[in-house]
Amino acid sequence: MRNEGTGTWPHRRARLSSDKTAITFRGRATTYRELDDRVTRLAHALRSLGVGRGDRVALLSTNHPAYLETLFAAGLLRAIFVPLNARLTAPEVDYAMRDSGATVLVHSRELGEMARSAAGEATRVVLDAPDPDAPGYEELIASADQSRIDEPVSHDDPCFIMYTSGTTGRPKGVVLTHGNIVFSVMNAVIDLDLDSHEAALVCAPLFHTAALDFVALPTLLKGGNVVVEEGFEPGRILQVLERECITYTFGVPTMFDALSAHPAWETTDLSAIRRVVVAAAPVPPRTLRTYTERGIKICQGYGLTETGPGALILTPDDVERKLGTAGVPHFFTDVRIVDADGREAAPGERGEIQICGPNVMREYWNRPDATADTFADGRWLRSGDVGVADAHGFVAVVDRLKDLIISGGENIYPAEVEAAILEMPGVTGCAVFGVPHEKWGEVGCAAVALEDGHELDHTQLAEFLAPRLAKYKIPRSLVVVDEIPRNATGKIRKDLLRRQFA
Ligand code: ATP
Repeated sequence: MRNEGTGTWPHRRARLSSDKTAITFRGRATTYRELDDRVTRLAHALRSLGVGRGDRVALLSTNHPAYLETLFAAGLLRAIFVPLNARLTAPEVDYAMRDSGATVLVHSRELGEMARSAAGEATRVVLDAPDPDAPGYEELIASADQSRIDEPVSHDDPCFIMYTSGTTGRPKGVVLTHGNIVFSVMNAVIDLDLDSHEAALVCAPLFHTAALDFVALPTLLKGGNVVVEEGFEPGRILQVLERECITYTFGVPTMFDALSAHPAWETTDLSAIRRVVVAAAPVPPRTLRTYTERGIKICQGYGLTETGPGALILTPDDVERKLGTAGVPHFFTDVRIVDADGREAAPGERGEIQICGPNVMREYWNRPDATADTFADGRWLRSGDVGVADAHGFVAVVDRLKDLIISGGENIYPAEVEAAILEMPGVTGCAVFGVPHEKWGEVGCAAVALEDGHELDHTQLAEFLAPRLAKYKIPRSLVVVDEIPRNATGKIRKDLLRRQFA
């Protein structure tokens, strides 16, 4: 067997476009030849730390090219990469380290304390800064062998384990194979029409599949430039979009809203952008309007970590006529909508979105029961989301099944109510969730964040919604909050709100 893994990509690219810029980080450009050299050396360095076939190598940091280099280097050794969410708490990082059994933990200096306590027996490697007790990442690379590594790796070998955000319980390690990654990346390249001239901005976290499989890896496959930003500061991101002539980026809805609300939005030159993708949470109609009015093609995507992540995509060509939908299944992927009786729903009927294809994960790490529960008929991944397809197969994502509010027998989809509330002047954020009610079983409660100086009471809210929504959908109570709590992927933490306001 030869090495079919993604770990070979830097070398294959260096053969074709060695002097082109592969990654730009902190103002410094790394060419494909340099990337190939660094990845090979890093693989040797990891091997000298005992890493071999099937071993896990974890990384804990804000966005850094080390995410890409470590993924490729682990891939050369047939080892498994474990990107960890830098916004987790110490016990959560401990859990992921123990669950994955990683033997090496690469981490940033800022997260040193958390890494030290989570590492256990694992060897720590420190990015950016010297640490008396651990080798430095750059030093390891500089002193390592540069001879080519030729391990056999197949499409069936695991490439990485990514922990889901845990909004539905204990985080589960999603195992994505090299084959899953190849097909995810091909889906992005084909459906977004990516080419070798892309300058793609990574400002969403690289410890989530979207930034990795949907932006960085497809761009590197095509020979484009991946601009890595450590964090998301809207003013700075607008400058980068203009300065680097960014052609493509991905973000969650709150990121796009923050950019368009920034004072520099109007004056920033965004003309290089060919399309942007928004996904990971319900997309408010006003977000879509703001970008299309500016002439920017904003393609809604939909997917899960388990689908690596893409399942549905609104391609740039369809943005104008199908805005507001998440489009059609990706090229290599199939999607079906299944009603409560397990039958395929007709166009216009709501049901669970189920996904099948070569990009869909094989299993959760060490969780055979959870894996079996997740697949219907052994191969269709149950998303736990509600969708509805139109007559042409374009799917609108309605809401999460578990967020559905059943009030007096009527189904209320919070995302629909939230979209209506977000149209109110002065409302900056909104979350609708169910609270127990003696008569109706459950009723909706709206948590709303307001612009400075604005006020809102329940009567005003109900009056605004009356012409827009059926009476049973109008929230029975209102709480004004400073900020809507969200996790790293922009998902509203309804569990926290329910606990606080039930
Ligand atoms: P956990 O499974 O631990 O609860 P999670 O579901 O938050 O974690 P992710 O894989 O990050 O894990 O998120 C996938 C979810 O994101 C989907 O199931 C869906 O609810 C939501 N989502 C993604 N894209 C969209 C979209 N375009 N519109 C609405 N929701 C979306």
